Amino acid sequence: MIYDLIIIGGGAAGLFAGASLPQKINGLIIEKSASPGKKLLMSGSGQCNLTHCGSIKDFLSHYGNQGKSIRSVLYQFNNDALISFFNQRGLPTIAREDGKIFPKSMKAQKVLDCLTSLCKENGLSLITSSNVIALEQDEKSNRYSVICKDQTYRSKKIIVATGGCSYPTTGSDGSFFSVLTKLGICINPLRPALAPIYVEGYPYAELSGTSFDTVKLQIRSKEGKKIAERSDSLLFTHKNLSGPVILNSSRFAVSGSYLQIQYVPSLSKEELFGLLREKHDGNQKQLLSVLQELLPLPKRFLEVICKRLSLSANQKFSQTAGSDIKRLADLLTNDTYRISRLEEFNKSMATSGGISLSEVHLKTMESKRFPHLYFAGEILDVDGDTGGYNLQFAFSSAYVAAQQI
Ligand SMILES: Cc1cc2nc3c(=O)[nH]c(=O)nc-3n(C[C@H](O)[C@H](O)[C@H](O)COP(=O)(O)OP(=O)(O)OC[C@H]3O[C@@H](n4cnc5c(N)ncnc54)[C@H](O)[C@@H]3O)c2cc1C
Repeated sequence: MIYDLIIIGGGAAGLFAGASLPQKINGLIIEKSASPGKKLLMSGSGQCNLTHCGSIKDFLSHYGNQGKSIRSVLYQFNNDALISFFNQRGLPTIAREDGKIFPKSMKAQKVLDCLTSLCKENGLSLITSSNVIALEQDEKSNRYSVICKDQTYRSKKIIVATGGCSYPTTGSDGSFFSVLTKLGICINPLRPALAPIYVEGYPYAELSGTSFDTVKLQIRSKEGKKIAERSDSLLFTHKNLSGPVILNSSRFAVSGSYLQIQYVPSLSKEELFGLLREKHDGNQKQLLSVLQELLPLPKRFLEVICKRLSLSANQKFSQTAGSDIKRLADLLTNDTYRISRLEEFNKSMATSGGISLSEVHLKTMESKRFPHLYFAGEILDVDGDTGGYNLQFAFSSAYVAAQQI
């Protein structure tokens, strides 16, 4: 039997491709894991942050350097189209105050159920626990052979949606990249993205769980050149830095480069120094109390800051030397670390790198080398910020590919 379409990978992109086919076909989804959509079920802590609200124009800045290249993909099926798609198919959505869109049920399972039943309606069968180990093209017939360990399937068209390398226990372990490399498809180097960052001399282990609503973060190269800057929330864990400001900057972080944190973004070093100086003379309050009064920062954090500078948090502020006030202002506005490494793939939420976009017609998602072979989702060299940008790209690219079938 020759299928009209085989989708390799039953994750967010593969299932959405099947669900958004323009007509019923004779097709197959081949999924390596025992059940489809394992990562989708984990997304948004099981609540599934589907996309983000706002203009699709604003999305482009949320994919690092790749944003402009994927404009045509996102514009063909944008966030509003995605929301309508789900709403019209019995899955109402809600927008949270921070702009993130979720299913109204706040259950990723509902999204998965919706997609799998649409795939079925569109004529797709699902085979699970089947690892595709090779893909061959018969140039004469223009048909593809999809080779699993015990069986080979043939199809006129293929959508590859095998994901990246993050959270490999979900099935997306990056093993399909070697299949593509054998076909001569260019794969850009793979690295964890949306990853916590380890720094040398991390001093905040005892503050694990402490978070900051907004800090300003800069990544600087070894030579001191500014590579990235953004403001967002920060989280201290017991061994590394995390939270949206870190995760979203991690695609720019490499070992040996530097990370600078400004804990009160509204104040420059000079302004903070000036503010502290103003309060200094004759002030009988304790150093810690003055810092707490002036700065919206957690008490335990300020205690650690004092400790790091070998200052007693209880000393009278008037007795704190001017040079120490300068050091305080400097540390709170420019806490600098050398980056040792990123968290591994098993704890990073996305993959940077993957199929080079130069391999793909971005108006159709078709391979430039292989006709009727399409790519969708995280297998491509696209990684988005937290906030629904990765699923939006998985869905948009899957939709575009599906419209060609
Ligand atoms: C913990 C976590 C939370 C996340 N939360 C969000 C969120 O809330 N919002 C958001 O936008 N993004 C989120 N993401 C990212 C998002 O889930 C992914 O970007 C998205 O799932 C990518 O979809 P995909 O279909 O390309 O890949 P995947 O969803 O990884 O699916 C790929 C599928 O292909 C299968 N496969 C792999 N190799 C083979 C093979 N050789 N043969 C057959 N099948 C194969 C895999 O088993 C897998 O099921 C999160 C990621 C993680 C890890």
